[in-house]
Amino acid sequence: MLTGRCLCEGVAYEIEGELGPAYNCHCSKCRRWHGAAFRSRASIRTEQFRWVRGEELLASYLLGKVTRLFCKVCGSNVVSTYADRPEVLGLPLGGLEQHPGRVPEAHIFVGSKSPWYEITDDLPRFEAWPGEERKVRETR
Ligand SMILES: [Zn+2]
Ligand SMILES: [Zn+2]
Repeated sequence: MLTGRCLCEGVAYEIEGELGPAYNCHCSKCRRWHGAAFRSRASIRTEQFRWVRGEELLASYLLGKVTRLFCKVCGSNVVSTYADRPEVLGLPLGGLEQHPGRVPEAHIFVGSKSPWYEITDDLPRFEAWPGEERKVRETR
């Protein structure tokens, strides 16, 4: 069992079972959402996730097919949901209180990587989601 929370501790959640694949996402949306060079995130199945408290403190922002949930008190990014994949949630590793048991295994959307950040590890790099045939490239 993993637990996570927002900065003000008003929102808390737990995750049962193991996380799915974890990636560092360099897309411009994640960079802006997190105010960081990239978002370290893992995929989990929706049924693994449970709110412990603070669901009423959540606000959301919908852009494209992705709804981004955040704490409206402290602004912490919480989970993202996908209109085309309702069975999956995107979970930021930064909110967890334990070692996630899994670490990022690739850099994704590296085509929109920040110009000031240099990837210095040997993890695989993808222009989109690994295994995705179509070449998705975010330019903004
Ligand atoms: Zn909060
Ligand atoms: Zn992203």
